[in-house]
Amino acid sequence: MPATVELPLPTPRAALFDVDYTLLRPNEMFRAEGYQTMGAKFGLALDVERWNEAEKAAYAVVKARRAELGPAHDDGVYEAIAGAVITGMGGGPADVVQRCAEAVIREWTRCENFTLYDDVKPCLERLRAAGIGIGLVSNTNRDLGEVLEHFYLDAFIDATVTSLDVGFFKPAPQIYLAVLDRMDVSIADAVMIGDSYEDDVAGAMRCGLAAIMLDRDGRRELPVPTIRSLAELPAALSL
Ligand SMILES: [Mg+2]
Repeated sequence: MPATVELPLPTPRAALFDVDYTLLRPNEMFRAEGYQTMGAKFGLALDVERWNEAEKAAYAVVKARRAELGPAHDDGVYEAIAGAVITGMGGGPADVVQRCAEAVIREWTRCENFTLYDDVKPCLERLRAAGIGIGLVSNTNRDLGEVLEHFYLDAFIDATVTSLDVGFFKPAPQIYLAVLDRMDVSIADAVMIGDSYEDDVAGAMRCGLAAIMLDRDGRRELPVPTIRSLAELPAALSL
């Protein structure tokens, strides 16, 4: 896949979307102040000023677990991320950090703690009107059926695949191939859209899919097709 692919791409038969931070915005509970509030419930004094280093520590934990465990779905990674954030923000006794991390991850499984970005429904409606199939591909142990019901997305989505279903995390090819199989669409006829360069864009491209990076914060300058909002997606797919 050439790194210099330019937008717009030809209109595909199917658009595949990542879920977290692409369609769904996790609420404040999963940011610095939220961690501080949760920590306080467990008697931990977590420092919001240490958020950036805590986030970096969490990324390092994810990287280390992937290096150790390979591409298989890793159910323990969520608590490990939360634990790394809590420790990075000041931490405390290991058993208390562990219970606090478990509490954060219990909240992560609840749809009530997420909102749909404003640009999602207009974009999905436009794609739907153009006859494009829509699939969701998520590294998660959540039930995407519940997500569809909670956010009234059932009518827009043809297929969903999670890493828990398939047994592999993105960027392993198996997970993208599983959703295409469910949609009966070939690699050449689909485009993957997501906020993670490695999991949504590079992984998809390695298995031959076209991909578009959604960079909502404008933080990344990467040589891949990039949009800042899903409002830009229809035009990026030549609609
Ligand atoms: Mg994401």
